[in-house]
Amino acid sequence: MKEALLQYAWQHKLFYTGKLATIKGEKVEVIDPGQLNKDAGPDFFNAKIKIGETLWAGNVEVHVNSSDWKNHHHSEDYAYNNIILHVIAKHDADIFRTSGAEIEQLILPCHEDLESRHEALMEPKSFVSCAKHLDKVPRILLSGWKNSLLTERLELKVNDIEILLQNTQNNWEEAFYITLARNFGTGINSIPFELLAKSLPQIYLAKHKENLTQIEAMLFGQSGLLNQSPTSDYANKLKQEYSFLKAKYKLQPIDAHLWKLLRLRPQNFPHMRIAQFATLTSKSSKLFSKVVNAKSIEEMESLFECSTSEYWQSHYTFNKTSHPKQKPIGKSTIKILLINSVVPLLFTYGRYKSDERMQEKALTLLEQITPEQNSIIKKWKQYNIVATTAFDSQALIHLKKQYCDCKKCLQCRIGHYVLTQNP
Ligand code: SF4
Repeated sequence: MKEALLQYAWQHKLFYTGKLATIKGEKVEVIDPGQLNKDAGPDFFNAKIKIGETLWAGNVEVHVNSSDWKNHHHSEDYAYNNIILHVIAKHDADIFRTSGAEIEQLILPCHEDLESRHEALMEPKSFVSCAKHLDKVPRILLSGWKNSLLTERLELKVNDIEILLQNTQNNWEEAFYITLARNFGTGINSIPFELLAKSLPQIYLAKHKENLTQIEAMLFGQSGLLNQSPTSDYANKLKQEYSFLKAKYKLQPIDAHLWKLLRLRPQNFPHMRIAQFATLTSKSSKLFSKVVNAKSIEEMESLFECSTSEYWQSHYTFNKTSHPKQKPIGKSTIKILLINSVVPLLFTYGRYKSDERMQEKALTLLEQITPEQNSIIKKWKQYNIVATTAFDSQALIHLKKQYCDCKKCLQCRIGHYVLTQNP
């Protein structure tokens, strides 16, 4: 048995309580297994255990073998002097505190099929290892678990935003601009897009917001893509503008090779995204303030509705032409921007300002947005786990990426259900 599973069995009392006895034969009663410690030190704090006729309060350590105690040097570590019980799967040594006093040990009689159920969860499967149990998971359990998952996901995003705020002297507009840029990269180009935004402070764009050509010149120039453009009136104009603005603001472009075009549909080429980002930047100054003050999802969406300049209506790259047509930011892209930029920023802002209504506004927004339709969400649907809003889809994406793919079934509520329910 793995140590993590033994710990889990102890934590959740998944053992036969009537059979508990120390290896010396003293009866054991677990009144409280203690609190799991995820940091250095004993595995469980503040346990309450009756051994024989004596009630003990203290810490508990869990190992597969008794000899692990010595192998981990706990017999010389004062932090382990308050261990009242050593919980093990196999007894192969007596163990002692630094004082030389012997520590009681208990071979944990785990529920008999716990290990086999856990092994089944750890087996690699095409999507999730608990698939055959999913239709039995109570909806109420799933609903509560999605709430917790969504909170965890938001916390990860809040952490990223806090780092951005630290690096921008608490400039919310700048943090929003960089987050927005990252999400304009729609996954595959998110890193170069973020680097592009970081290389070009928003304040420079704001100074030239009346002149879309200058904004495009700065963005395409800083992206490195302008260097690769063939000669044309438009490209020459951008190069001329960029040369002047680059010197004026002492700008350093990023490496053009960071951008990826392979397997992308032309409307998602970085050139198209940069052209749309340029128009959005030129049309909206203080976009984050507008987002904060928007009264409805429709108002919020309308803030991101814009197309490209004329040149990009007939081009996908500097080399690749297209039939002339409007190329606005699509509804699905606006949805991604709302989910991944607006919601986390609003939520973080609400927390900073101790404004619960702002945090509520962020969560309500997620509930108003339709779910993403990516491969993860489609797969969950095959197992009848259906996302009805972006709140759900974000939670399910988090579950797959942060739990299923990392084999963290012991920390998952569905995993707990699978491990503990009667067959
Ligand atoms: S983490 Fe949870 S949902 Fe994912 S495979 Fe394990 S038990 Fe299933």
